[in-house]
Amino acid sequence: MFLACFDIGGTSIKYGIVSVEGEILYDASTPTEAHLGGETIIQKVVSISKELKRKWDINGISISTAGQIDNVNGIVVHATDTIPNYTGLNIVEIVQIQTELPVKVENDVNCTAIGEHWKGSAQGVEDFLCLTIGTGIGGALFLNGKLYTGQSFSAGEVGHITLYPKGQACTCGSAGCYEQYASSQALEKLVSTEFGETLQLIDFFQLLKSGDMKALACYDQWLDDLTTGLKTMIHFLNPRLIVLGGGISAQGDFLLNSIKDSVYPKIMPNHARNLEIKMAMNGNKANLLGAAKIFLME
Ligand SMILES: [Zn+2]
Repeated sequence: MFLACFDIGGTSIKYGIVSVEGEILYDASTPTEAHLGGETIIQKVVSISKELKRKWDINGISISTAGQIDNVNGIVVHATDTIPNYTGLNIVEIVQIQTELPVKVENDVNCTAIGEHWKGSAQGVEDFLCLTIGTGIGGALFLNGKLYTGQSFSAGEVGHITLYPKGQACTCGSAGCYEQYASSQALEKLVSTEFGETLQLIDFFQLLKSGDMKALACYDQWLDDLTTGLKTMIHFLNPRLIVLGGGISAQGDFLLNSIKDSVYPKIMPNHARNLEIKMAMNGNKANLLGAAKIFLME
């Protein structure tokens, strides 16, 4: 049995063929062109699915996507302006009718968490929090071995925890949200303000590791904001494990160790006991795996 799996993000649509064992047998990607709107993006998914169907004996389609997703009915319940006209779209209905295959859809951060629980850093752990740190900060929560989605499919929006009341304006319409200070985009902004030019994060981390004082000051400020938010989450949820994914996880042990050094002194002793913090293992493949798993869980 093979599944066609998709991961719809703001910049690219990753897709591939995943086996029931969780092996990715083929993968590729195409630009999302998010500005063209939700309907156009889903039509891309339909035409790629039809193409894949000609080459592979596919039993179903499973989609990981940005936005808050009603995973029961397959509807986008809320999406920001990054993808115009996405809110309200019934993805499952559209793709199912045109491909004549069963379809599942789930929020992308939830897919990261499911993918990491199935084949990554959260294997065997029943209570954990998964954060994706990229353009924004997303969160997903596993409780008693199950994804917790909330009463209207929107739990885990940790990126919008208030860090600085009256702080910087946020895409959610509020101000001072966590992701405005602790996302990788926030770090990039901080760095470009400080250095007076845009620096790729890979070059920034190079500078940082060479001991550049200006880089170190930016990093310390960003890290302090990042772990202040983590402190809130840890005290609230008392998780066994936190898995960190998203673009920033490419920084590996260097980043992980500085997060640990910064967060542990901020939390109460009983919360720190047995708490593990790990980087996600599957990189940008976690969402395809998570999408496959939600299809198989039915
Ligand atoms: Zn916000």
